[in-house]
This record gives sequence, C-alpha cells and structure tokens, in this order.
Amino acid sequence: MTAVYDAAVIGAGAAGMMAAGVAAQRGLRVALLDHAARLAEKIRISGGGRCNFTNIGTTPANFLSRNPDFCRSALRAYTPRDFIELIERHGVRWHEKHRGQLFCDDSSESIIEVLRRECDAGGVHWRMPCAVRAVAFEDGDYVLDTAQGRLRARQLVLATGGMAIPQMGATDFSLSVARQFGLRIVEPRPALVPLVFDAQQWRPFAALAGVALEVGMRVAREAADPEDTPASPAGRRRGRHAAPGFVEDLLFTHRGLSGPAVLQISSYWRPGEALAVDLSPHEPMADHLLRHKHGGRQRLATVLAQAWPRRLAECWLAQAEGLGERRVADASDRDLRNLAARIHDWRLRPTGTAGYKKAEVMSGGVDTDELDQRSLQARRRPGLYVVGEAVDVTGWLGGYNFQWAWASGMACGRALAAA
Ligand SMILES: Cc1cc2nc3c(=O)[nH]c(=O)nc-3n(C[C@H](O)[C@H](O)[C@H](O)COP(=O)(O)OP(=O)(O)OC[C@H]3O[C@@H](n4cnc5c(N)ncnc54)[C@H](O)[C@@H]3O)c2cc1C
Repeated sequence: MTAVYDAAVIGAGAAGMMAAGVAAQRGLRVALLDHAARLAEKIRISGGGRCNFTNIGTTPANFLSRNPDFCRSALRAYTPRDFIELIERHGVRWHEKHRGQLFCDDSSESIIEVLRRECDAGGVHWRMPCAVRAVAFEDGDYVLDTAQGRLRARQLVLATGGMAIPQMGATDFSLSVARQFGLRIVEPRPALVPLVFDAQQWRPFAALAGVALEVGMRVAREAADPEDTPASPAGRRRGRHAAPGFVEDLLFTHRGLSGPAVLQISSYWRPGEALAVDLSPHEPMADHLLRHKHGGRQRLATVLAQAWPRRLAECWLAQAEGLGERRVADASDRDLRNLAARIHDWRLRPTGTAGYKKAEVMSGGVDTDELDQRSLQARRRPGLYVVGEAVDVTGWLGGYNFQWAWASGMACGRALAAA
C-alpha cells in the first residue's frame, strides 16, 4: 500500500529537520527520508565537533549567490536570536568564540538532539536509512519509489545539501531532481576548500607545511577575462561575485594553502585567477625592516622572524629572495622596501581546489530565480521546495551556512500547506 503525506522531505540534515519539524508541529503529516544510517553527520562533525551553529552578525553580505538579495527574506524572518532561543529552550549551552561565531559548550550532538526532538514533537514519520530510487509526479502528487516502498505526498522538499564530503554520503540528489522538474542550476563547485598548486611551483614552500599566520587575502581579479566579471552577462550567468578581501589565518600545507583565509577566498576564486596575499596585514613591513637596519648586525631572517614565524622568514629569504644569509645592515633601503612590497603583495596562482573531498560546502545549486524567496517553493512547480545548501546561497566560513539552513528550512516549514 502507498503511504500518503502532506509533505515528504528528502534529507534529514540541518535544513530538512528544521522544515519537517516546523511543518509537522503545524499539523501536517510529514515524512522525513534520508539514506544515511546515522542522523545529520555534517552537524555532528561541524565546528570540530562543537558545531558553529550560527553567526550573531549574519547579514546577506555574508553569502554568495547569483542573486545576493534572495536570502534576505528568510534570514530576516528567522534570525540567529531565534535559533538561540530554540536551543536554549532545550537547555543547550553555548559560547561565542571569534567574530560572532557561536559554538556549543558540549558537543554538536546537542544540536542534533534539539532538531530530532522538534521533529518528534510534531510526529514526523522517520524513514531512515531509506534510499530514494526515483521521484515522479502523478495526478498532482509527488510519488517516491524508495527502499521502503512507495510514498505519495502533495508537496516535496529537496533538502539533501551539497556534494562536499562525498565519502560521508553527500550526493547531488536535490540538483538532479530539480533538473528533472525543469529547474535551472547554477554550476556547482567546491567552496570553503583548500587550494592546491603545481608540485614544481610549490616545492620551495612545501617545507612550510604546518606554518600558520594571519594574512590579508583577495582574488587578484585584474587577471580575469573582462567578459567574465560579476557585472557582465556571462559572469552573472556563471554566478560570478565581486570578491571581498579577508583578514584571517593562513595555513601552509604540503600541497598548497589552507586555513580560514584560503577557505573564505576559495568560494570566490575561479581557475586561472591569481591570489594577492598580504603576509603582514597589520604592520607595514618596510617600517619594521628599516627600524632594525640601524645599529644591528642581525641577519635579515632574524629581523623578519620578529614579525613572522621563523620557518617562514628563513624559507622566504632563502627560497624566494636568495637573501638567506644577508645581514639587515648590508641591505640597501631600496632592497628592504622592495622586499616589504613583495611581502605585502605576494602573487600566486593556484592550479585548483582540493575538491569536494576536502570542501566544507558546495557553492552554486538550484538557481534562486526558480524559487520564491519567502517560501523556497519552485515558482513554476507548485508543491516543490528546495532548502539549505542545495540552493544557490553559500555562506562564508563562520556559522553562516547553518544559519541559512535553519532560516530556509523554517521558511519552507511555515509555508508548506496543510491538506
Ligand atoms: C567538515 C564540515 C564542517 C562544517 N562546519 C560548519 C560549521 O561549523 N558551521 C556552519 O555554518 N557550517 C558548517 N559546515 C557546512 C554545513 O554543515 C552545511 O552547510 C549544512 O549542513 C547544510 O545543511 P543542509 O540541510 O542543506 O544539508 P546537510 O546538513 O548536509 O543534510 C543533507 C542530508 O541529506 C542526506 N542525503 C544526501 N543525499 C541523499 C540522497 N540521495 N538520498 C537521501 N538522503 C540524502 C544526507 O545524508 C544528509 O543527512 C560544515 C561542513 C563540513 C563538511
């Protein structure tokens, strides 16, 4: 026999549980399906196991999307304060770590528990683990062929997230069903992801693996194709964004660069583009070097190491400058100024990203032009909704992606219609 629901939600992650719980508590008969054996793995591993569940300073400017205004309505209707109020009602304790990023005091399990309880309070029908083999539209209903039999629902919510971490079961399911129903997709790509370099090019820096420091970082966009800017028609079609600069930590790895600065910029970087890195964003390096020139027999590397990690200072001078043993007093002012200029504007061209295996999110997704911003319902496909990361709305690092998942899930959960 075919089970019949008001709504079927595919994907029991952050956005799907939010949508299902809210709709069910409004009296809808809701089925929540997920192919995974364990609930909400991405919430579990997020924030190093403590889940950076929101950012108190969330604004639409913290998101990338072909339509930067799309997220406005859902974010306004469900704010970080609203989510805090929800978890506090369930007794979850939290703290602010850095730049508005909020984490659980204990573990991310407590966030999963809140969402599970909210779903149970509404009587959500769990179907998990349960693979969905096919989706069809018949006589005004969405019909799902699943590993647990057939299921009919008047409304279908696609909430299977993005393709980051496929080794944990991430798929492009929402995108392929959206395509099946004629919705356009903004090209998906790995985002919040380390960047890698040609092995030959990276050899001088490979020994720096593990070195971290705060830097300023931006995409050096002047190298880009003038036909492919954020404002050009081709650029808009591809989801280009005017790239902001970030001042965050950078981490050298064996293959390239990682750390928050690189993860942030990776969402804006496109193949072929160069990065401009300021390796001393707070202190003018020329002042520092010139100050030590007078009255010192110190090696340049020693002077540089007062402002930098020592390994970076030694490697930079030996490899990049050929100045390994030079004493600061022996360098001309011009040499020191040139050295400082290169430190403030290090240009380098990644060959690619470390891919979905290492990415925190997928950017791109279902084109926001296809969706109503208040409900996340497909404009041309009544009853079909897309929420969370599967939508072309991608947050910066720092709790913004979960805030989008909560807000879009809530918008959908409130909008789903009862029988
Ligand atoms: C390592 C890591 C750390 C992160 N840390 C943070 C953080 O601290 N703060 C933050 O804001 N964001 C973080 N993120 C991003 C955040 O986890 C996601 O943006 C968010 O979970 C997206 O919510 P979602 O509901 O759209 O998708 P998800 O939470 O990914 O849920 C999707 C669900 O769909 C299921 N599914 C997938 N394919 C299918 C299918 N074919 N059939 C059935 N079910 C399917 C999955 O099993 C999953 O349960 C992190 C991501 C990663 C990978």
